[in-house]
Amino acid sequence: MLYRSLNKESQSVNFETALKNGLAKDGGLFYPEKIKKLDKSFLENLHNYSNIDIAFQVIKQFIGDEINEKDLKVIIKNTIDFDFPLIEIENNIQTLELFHGPTLAFKDVGARFMANCLAYFNKSNNEITTVLVATSGDTGAAVANGFLDVKGTNVVILYPKNMVSDIQERQLTTNKKNIKALKVNGTFDDCQQMVKKAFVDKELNSELNLTSANSINVARWLPQMFYYFFALKQIKANNKKIVFSVPSGNFGNICAGIIAIDLGLPIHHVIASTNSNNTIPRYLKSKIYNPRKTIKTISNAMDVSNPSNFIRIEEIYNDFNLLKNNLSSYSFNDGETISAMKSVFNKSKYILDPHGAIGYLGLKKYLNTNPSFFGVFLETAHPIKFSNHIEKALNIKIKIPNVINKIISKEKVFTEVSSYKDFKDSLLDKYVAH
Ligand SMILES: *Cc1c(COP(=O)(O)O)cnc(C)c1O
Repeated sequence: MLYRSLNKESQSVNFETALKNGLAKDGGLFYPEKIKKLDKSFLENLHNYSNIDIAFQVIKQFIGDEINEKDLKVIIKNTIDFDFPLIEIENNIQTLELFHGPTLAFKDVGARFMANCLAYFNKSNNEITTVLVATSGDTGAAVANGFLDVKGTNVVILYPKNMVSDIQERQLTTNKKNIKALKVNGTFDDCQQMVKKAFVDKELNSELNLTSANSINVARWLPQMFYYFFALKQIKANNKKIVFSVPSGNFGNICAGIIAIDLGLPIHHVIASTNSNNTIPRYLKSKIYNPRKTIKTISNAMDVSNPSNFIRIEEIYNDFNLLKNNLSSYSFNDGETISAMKSVFNKSKYILDPHGAIGYLGLKKYLNTNPSFFGVFLETAHPIKFSNHIEKALNIKIKIPNVINKIISKEKVFTEVSSYKDFKDSLLDKYVAH
């Protein structure tokens, strides 16, 4: 499979190069050159396939012959060796739980797939790839976990100071080995900006092989298609039209869902549910794209005001009305998020995390005016990651999973950086604290 740059100036590259470079030379995001629909018989009989077989069928055209079938299946097996249960919340509303991986958020799938692919391509050379990752909380943890001890990789995590939860920060800063954490005096958008700048920094690129493990990287982004297939495998919608609500920040997950639809998956509408960082809901109303300053919310993994992947969605629906017909987007503030967590807990005893709660709210809003649909929202993180907010709102105590118990008393190790220069010096091991 070849990937072209959405900035249209660089030449197309293969999967390995797209994976290793992260961004195209012209600074554009990579996008698959052509997407072939999957077989009808496969799509209609998902329930007869294992998750590994489904994932293999879904991803194989995006890799082509660059990884052989046997090794690709091993990579997939290492990536998705946990459950993706679909749980009923209310009549016509179910949630797909994506938090059963090692770091308790959906990012584990993309991060592990990317790490395994990179290890595969680097297994017989001595290349060192420096993996940069800006995180609003969960990506960094998943990437650290997926890349820990992976041969030929050094990982540098940038996270915004005071904008991630305590458990998230521990997951980012207690890894050591080939994982380094940078605490940035700024927002997630600032972190993301530094990463993007690093890619076009000639000096850095002459010294290091840089790649990004954010959803701008195709190897992180595309495996997220699996979720939608795993959900459809389990749904019994009784011929109703299906709508998915995706709690969205950088819009990678929802964009992967739209590619899944392109592959032929029968999903009839998607909803991008956001917190108060509502650039896209405002854009769909006004046609004016106007990111504002990032606001800190309790659904911090979605505190993104300039979502990187939106440009990919515009590439798919290259007409504003077409976009609006296929995608709705609503935003909800912290008060509404907490009310949703309370009402769902009181009615169904289900504990939503703040991100899932926003997904639920977006779905409810859509179903209000489209009651004939059957809805699924994605539950993107385990509630323990946000236990401070949830325990207060619901007046409960959440049992701490073992993976969290193991890190809760470990010392946080990080370098604090305040500027692009600090960041660059730290990449080049020249950083002096000031
Ligand atoms: C990253 C994240 C999101 C947002 O996903 P995007 O692909 O960036 O839109 C939502 N919920 C949680 C818990 C996350 O970690």
